[in-house]
Amino acid sequence: MGNALFSLKNDIVEAGKRIYARGYVASNDGNISARVDDEKVVITPTGVSKGFMKPEDLIVINMEGKVISGNKKPSSEMFMHLQVYKDRPDVFSVCHAHPPYATGFAVAGIPLDKCVLPEVVITLGSIPLIEYGTPGTEEFYKPVTKLLKDYDAFLLANHGALTVGKDVLNAYHKMETLEHFAFIAFVAQQLGYINTLNREQVQKLKDQRAKYGIRTDVGCVSCQEEGQSCSTNSSAAKVDSDKEELIRKITEEVLRSLNR
Ligand SMILES: [Zn+2]
Repeated sequence: MGNALFSLKNDIVEAGKRIYARGYVASNDGNISARVDDEKVVITPTGVSKGFMKPEDLIVINMEGKVISGNKKPSSEMFMHLQVYKDRPDVFSVCHAHPPYATGFAVAGIPLDKCVLPEVVITLGSIPLIEYGTPGTEEFYKPVTKLLKDYDAFLLANHGALTVGKDVLNAYHKMETLEHFAFIAFVAQQLGYINTLNREQVQKLKDQRAKYGIRTDVGCVSCQEEGQSCSTNSSAAKVDSDKEELIRKITEEVLRSLNR
């Protein structure tokens, strides 16, 4: 257990460096956590830059938010993290940041829920926009719970983004994918138009998701507009690393066939 906690802390320190280095947070913003076991979560402290954390800065809390070990104060958003772990037994890490493009969409009130990029459709599915609530309060994390079961990546209105995953790196990578998608969507919008994948193209991605055990029961906006439900959602625990490799290959294949 000691070793497991130590490696979780190291993973969080590393993810913190990356979210800071990539400009996904300013100052001491953002928070990352990981599930230690059924009763404990390790989380980043408040008032510390996520780019310069040491493993000993991290705090272990119980499921009620009580500090078990650590000298600093846990993130003010810990209740949002705890709610995720309570509602999603398949989730082992939660990442919250303010990446500028994704947050721009969240401020503009525009969800990233159109099927545009095959790799995003396969790994994240649709990215809904969660209504605004004052950070650090129940008003903030309660709206998250409504959509939590169906998605792994979220925009938080007038605030930022939230991703969940099967481990720290997986949750962090979803934040990267989300921000990259937001950046590309922004550029495409500047160029004049965002072409969405059609229903048939999405169906092919959906078939691949089903084949590799990724949940396929939530539709995206593109398909709903055509009066059909597609399935572009993902769930954290079901994608292990060799599946990720397969997905990468499939994505390449789909991209090739789209280019034909
Ligand atoms: Zn925040």
